[in-house]
Amino acid sequence: MNPIVTYSIVVPVFNEEAVIAVTYERLKKVMDTTGESYELLFVNDGSSDQTAEIIDRICRQDDHVKLINFSRNFGHQIAISAGMDNALGQAVVVIDADLQDPPEVIWQMIERWKKGYEVVYATRKERKGETLFKKWTAAAFYRLLKFITDIDIPVDTGDFRLIDRKVCNVMKNLKEKNRFVRGLVSWVGFRQTAVEYVREERFAGESKYPLRKMIKLSLDAITTFSYKPLKLAVCLGFVFSSLSLVYLFFALLERLIGTYTLPAWALLIAMGIFLNGIILSVLGIIGEYIGRIYDESKGRPLYIIANKAGFGREEESHEY
Ligand code: UDP
Ligand code: MG
Repeated sequence: MNPIVTYSIVVPVFNEEAVIAVTYERLKKVMDTTGESYELLFVNDGSSDQTAEIIDRICRQDDHVKLINFSRNFGHQIAISAGMDNALGQAVVVIDADLQDPPEVIWQMIERWKKGYEVVYATRKERKGETLFKKWTAAAFYRLLKFITDIDIPVDTGDFRLIDRKVCNVMKNLKEKNRFVRGLVSWVGFRQTAVEYVREERFAGESKYPLRKMIKLSLDAITTFSYKPLKLAVCLGFVFSSLSLVYLFFALLERLIGTYTLPAWALLIAMGIFLNGIILSVLGIIGEYIGRIYDESKGRPLYIIANKAGFGREEESHEY
């Protein structure tokens, strides 16, 4: 049987060889001072560099460390979910591997947790060392999301947070494939509170979130938490049909009073292209939802674990 673990620190890692050893040291230092039991659970999201080997080596020297290797890159949100599925702690902390989230903030989170909060999320007071593009798009995204969804997802808050065992158990039962974890944590409720922190510069290496992944994350967030884009389609349809009725009315009126001139076909072509553009965009929006419904219906597992280390003998065999 597994002994009781108080804290699980879940760290998703994707090609983080430049930073992972330092991250481990910093996390270990912080967690050792708590004087309570803990595990450091690294989820290797299909890294193609030396990340897995480095963690594997640490695993052999330190009993606190566990490693899950995915069979390929499944994405940050899924790596976090796998960490939650496999964490044993009474409190589970999710933290990025690149030290942008300072491990020392975990002390404040633990303090709040001990006061009875079941979710302690970390809100970014300031972001250091990120491009203006990233800062602006992130700020705009959080605000758009707040406007567009009905649940209260805190702004400027990433996945760096502590959740209680109760919340973790609920999260484990949310099996949706296109996941926006921080939205799901807001959705489950419980007593939640924030701690503020300054988001540091990435310690080493480059961001593993290219624009493509940022767009995917935003679309997942919007489509899994809001129907408003679909309602927008209805509104647009209504507005344009009303406008065309008004236009028809004036065209008929002109014809009746005899001021009717040649049809402005250039205008008609422009309008045709414009309306077709709108229709295609709306179809695209619907497609985003349908694609996700299709993902849900396929029944594929959320992730595939190639192997594990540090979990004790019986679990280290290959899962698939
Ligand atoms: N990450 C991951 N899988 C991915 C992309 C990123 O597990 O496909 C991890 C990455 O190793 C890091 C965290 O997710 O621990 C956040 O990524 P990153 O720091 O590159 O994102 P940014 O801070 O630039 O938004
Ligand atoms: Mg980062």
